[in-house]
Amino acid sequence: MSNKTEEKTDIKSLTLPQLQEELKRFSEPAYRAGQLYEWMHRKLVADYEEMTNLSKAFREKCREAFTCTTLHAVKVQESRLDGTKKFLFALSDGNLVESVWMRYKHGNSVCISSQAGCRMGCRFCASTLDGLERNLLPSEMLEQVYAVTRLTGERVSNVVVMGTGEPLDNYENLLRFLTLLTDENGLHISQRNVTVSTCGIVPGIRRLAEERLQITLALSLHAATDEKRRSMMPIAERYSLDELMRACTYYFEKTGRRITFEYSLADGINDAKEDAEALISLIKPLNCHVNLIPINPVKERNFRQSDRRAVEGFKNKLEKNGINVTIRREMGRDIDGACGQLRRSHLMKQP
Ligand code: SAH
Repeated sequence: MSNKTEEKTDIKSLTLPQLQEELKRFSEPAYRAGQLYEWMHRKLVADYEEMTNLSKAFREKCREAFTCTTLHAVKVQESRLDGTKKFLFALSDGNLVESVWMRYKHGNSVCISSQAGCRMGCRFCASTLDGLERNLLPSEMLEQVYAVTRLTGERVSNVVVMGTGEPLDNYENLLRFLTLLTDENGLHISQRNVTVSTCGIVPGIRRLAEERLQITLALSLHAATDEKRRSMMPIAERYSLDELMRACTYYFEKTGRRITFEYSLADGINDAKEDAEALISLIKPLNCHVNLIPINPVKERNFRQSDRRAVEGFKNKLEKNGINVTIRREMGRDIDGACGQLRRSHLMKQP
């Protein structure tokens, strides 16, 4: 699998020092790199055309030397319930990715995809049904944030990498994306306002811990025994809960950042009293937070959502045991809410 869409260098995936290096062969003054970078990462323009303080000749040279990744919205859906917007974007090779824009009291948040498709195979998830198409480039992850900002006309303050794909299965590109997204010369999103969600690739978690970023790591747990987790998530065959918890502890030790555990509740699968008890004994030693999510039924999958009472009961039990817990507000229920549903429903309609 190649990360290159074309032979040319992908200009929006370069850091400022890398761009300065690339431009040396152009015999242009050194400040050109800064100008280009500002157009792309601060002013968020879609194309060289709009970079009006650069000469036409220089823009042409750039066009010949670099690809400039831009996403085009193929479909936009807006929730009538809460204003959540879901965007389906086309990449330059025709692949599709989806991003979700949510408005919260503390600011606007964008949920982005890290891969086209996914190969993790979680049994309740729509994103993985057709497997992995390819990794997204750093620029393609960034452009989801930039394009959403252009289209809504509002500033984004939080970014969550929780859309389609497994971010730690696209590690190098994810890291470059995080560097560019939080760069003070770019959008400068605070690291603390960025969350990366993983299904639990243990070596990736350990490696990320060593980067000592101040981002939040969300771990998709969904079950508190190895047996049950294996029945829901193939990745659990590779790494035991014991290894996973040790990796989470390591992440906290290295970064000082509390882990968020994601737990999607499915009726009769993982929402019983015993499940809550197993979860409590598993995570009690950790400094963590639990996000309970009523599972979003996907038509190709046979998981049903836990009812309100089961969700509340589960939450109360955790709280009584001193665990920090929130029930995730479901946003955009009326617009193909669950991961990968919009992309999939669009693909299914193609001839
Ligand atoms: N691959 C990463 C990030 C993408 S999935 C991960 O696994 O964390 C984002 C979150 O949505 C994960 O917690 C995932 O388990 C959850 N999820 C996927 N499908 C879901 C569904 N149908 N209902 C509720 N949560 C779902």
